[in-house]
Amino acid sequence: MANRSAPRVASSPVTRAVRAGLGADTAHRAVMPPIHLSTNFFFDAPGVYAKYDYTRTANPTRDLAAETIAELEGGCGAVVTSSGMSAIAVSTRLLSAGDLLLAPRDCYGGSYRLFSVEANRGAYRVEFVDLRDPGSLELARRLRPRMIWIETPSNPHLRITDIAAWARVARDVGAVCVTDNTFLSPVNQRPLEFGADLVVHSTTKFLNGHGDVVGGAVVAADEGLLEEVAWWTNAMGASGAPFDSYLTLRGMRTLHARSRVHEENAVCIVDLLNRSDVVARVHHPSLPENPGHEIARRQQMGWGSLVSFELRGGRAAVDAFVDRIEHFALAESLGGVESLVAHPWTMTHASMDEPARLAAGIGEGLLRLSVGIEACEDLEADLKRALSRAEAVAGVAGETVVRRWRSVARRG
Ligand SMILES: *Cc1c(COP(=O)(O)O)cnc(C)c1O
Repeated sequence: MANRSAPRVASSPVTRAVRAGLGADTAHRAVMPPIHLSTNFFFDAPGVYAKYDYTRTANPTRDLAAETIAELEGGCGAVVTSSGMSAIAVSTRLLSAGDLLLAPRDCYGGSYRLFSVEANRGAYRVEFVDLRDPGSLELARRLRPRMIWIETPSNPHLRITDIAAWARVARDVGAVCVTDNTFLSPVNQRPLEFGADLVVHSTTKFLNGHGDVVGGAVVAADEGLLEEVAWWTNAMGASGAPFDSYLTLRGMRTLHARSRVHEENAVCIVDLLNRSDVVARVHHPSLPENPGHEIARRQQMGWGSLVSFELRGGRAAVDAFVDRIEHFALAESLGGVESLVAHPWTMTHASMDEPARLAAGIGEGLLRLSVGIEACEDLEADLKRALSRAEAVAGVAGETVVRRWRSVARRG
């Protein structure tokens, strides 16, 4: 048995994630933990409750996934939910009618929609602000929110919010500080260490990492909060399915190894984009000119593998780029082993009206990459081909604009 259960020696989160649940099977001595799909569990006698009775409330496979996520984030526990959005819905159940939720203007679209609709029907009040504006810290002290929502880096511009500064305000006004850590994962950022009270994940992204589960999690810094989110998860029926939990647990075993390759590839690609003439701007926290660079250096352990950039030549250049690219699938989502490209204007941010998109700095020429773990030379060669196609079109489009301008000017 010596070798079977949790290691008795201290080990790093990397090792614990790789070995999560090994030896949990006492029936058959399976090395990898079994998957418990059962809806219900035997009672010994009426009214005698064992650890498990009904899977919505608790399930051994889901518990293993939750313990692993909590360990990775350095929390006291976690709940695993059916999606990132249900994790967000569960977290905001800590708010009552009249309570104020302070949220970033450029938070995830699904969060924006949920917060707005819930506020409209009186579940709580919401105020969307720019969390990077130093004035908003003062505003928060005046407004005294009950919950402060952070999402860093932001989507799609990868802007950085100072978690420690906001956690301090939250403590001063008695608010719960929540951080959506989906874009970086606990390998690159651990918000609880900077004073956040809850960490929310769409495990659909990096934690599962293989593009085959929609899931979520809420990690709590203390027992009181954990009890509350667990209560709501069960009451709302938001808990994750055992099979999804199993896949997510399997995904997390390789999270650190995957993240190293994601990071290496992303750094190469940022450099390549930066040197391209058809790229007007690259957004990535690793760039010293990025306004959040210093904060990212302080609170992140890695720069992350999401990169966005603006193509000269607008929509025509985007269409040419996307038509030529082969190793980046045109799809939403992020954080999987496979590289993806998204066009926020027509995809992730299409539900915002045009003026709102433009005000948020989302133009037709903006593209977002989720850099996968393929061979870097393949990704680079592919990007070079697609960029040169975009460049050819951007040149033509540029001339067309100039020509149109001239003819307008002549007529005028
Ligand atoms: C995808 C995502 C969500 C929502 O997660 P689902 O699993 O799709 O419900 C929430 N926040 C961020 C930052 C995301 O990227």
